[in-house]
Amino acid sequence: ADSFDEECDYLFKAVLIGDSGVGKSNLLSRFAKGEFRLDSKPTIGVEFAYRNIRVGDKLIKAQIWDTAGQERFRAITSSYYRGALGGLLVYDITRRATYENVKKWLRELRQFGSSDMVVVLVGNKSDLGNSREVSEEEGKTLAEVEGLCFMETSALQNLNVEEAFLHMITNIHEITS
Ligand code: GDP
Ligand code: MG
Repeated sequence: ADSFDEECDYLFKAVLIGDSGVGKSNLLSRFAKGEFRLDSKPTIGVEFAYRNIRVGDKLIKAQIWDTAGQERFRAITSSYYRGALGGLLVYDITRRATYENVKKWLRELRQFGSSDMVVVLVGNKSDLGNSREVSEEEGKTLAEVEGLCFMETSALQNLNVEEAFLHMITNIHEITS
């Protein structure tokens, strides 16, 4: 291990899930690298990114997994979820079908993921208010019914992205410490 790993107090795995095209990869690159890409090309295989976050006096290394396109074929396997302590379940506020599919993703997550996983429901693309098909209220209600946290984000405008990830990470920290 390099010296940086040795200084780290915890390593958390978290996963991104949700339909194709909702903005998962851009949320991750925004959070991990401060980048946004208009042309996002799906990559092959599972990808992940790291970011170190200080919570109180602890240094947490968050390892966040991205699906790299398999969600298109509903081909995410149990190994993707294995050991994950948190998840961002993302839908696109301009495409109602992606919101309707949240229930399917939750079923899969509860089948493969650990029962005490911290899940944040994320309505992404809040910058596209004119094409909105899902109200913020509907997002909140679904999250309440399912016992999740909720946030609307824009990876494009960098709105609430930091908050959504940090919310998940600090909640994991509270549960595990
Ligand atoms: P993924 O398939 O869930 O990983 O989605 P991507 O991150 O590849 O994004 C799909 C498309 O939506 C790309 O064209 C992105 O540029 C676009 N996109 C992602 N996030 C946002 C956002 O917050 N606002 C807008 N307007 N477009 C976004
Ligand atoms: Mg992607």
